[in-house]
Amino acid sequence: MKPIPKSKAPMPSEYQEQCQVVSWARLMVSTGQEPRLVLLHGDSSGVRLSIGAAVKMKKAGRIRGWPDIFLAVPMVEFVDDLIEYHGLFLEIKKRTGGVVSPDQRMIHKMLFEQGYQVEVCAGSDQAIRVIREYLGMEV
Ligand SMILES: [Mg+2]
Repeated sequence: MKPIPKSKAPMPSEYQEQCQVVSWARLMVSTGQEPRLVLLHGDSSGVRLSIGAAVKMKKAGRIRGWPDIFLAVPMVEFVDDLIEYHGLFLEIKKRTGGVVSPDQRMIHKMLFEQGYQVEVCAGSDQAIRVIREYLGMEV
C-alpha cells in the first residue's frame, strides 16, 4: 500500500522562523531599503547545543527567557500620548501553538519596565510586520 502523501509542508520551527526574519532584515540592509536593520541582532538560544557548549554559553552570559531578536533602534512617537522605547525585543514562536514560558514572561515584563517594547510573534510574517510598524516602514 502506498503511503498517503502529505498535503502540507511541515510547519517551520521557531529557529527557522527566526532565520526568516534575519534574512529579511539582511536583505533590507543590502538593498538599502532600511539601513537601521544592521542593528537587528538574533540571539542564539534557539540553536540546539551540546551540553559542553551550553555550559560555555551560560558562562558567557546566555540566560533563559531572553528574547530571540533585538533591534537596537530607539523609537519616539506621538499617539495621543508620547510613546518612547529604547529598542524592540521580539520573541519568535511557531505560527501556531507557541507557548511563552514563565522565564520568558518574567524577562519580558522586566524589559518592558526598563523602557523596551517587547512583542511575542507567531511566525516570521508577524515578526516582520511588527518590525516594519516599529520602524515606520510601509507595512
Ligand atoms: Mg523563541
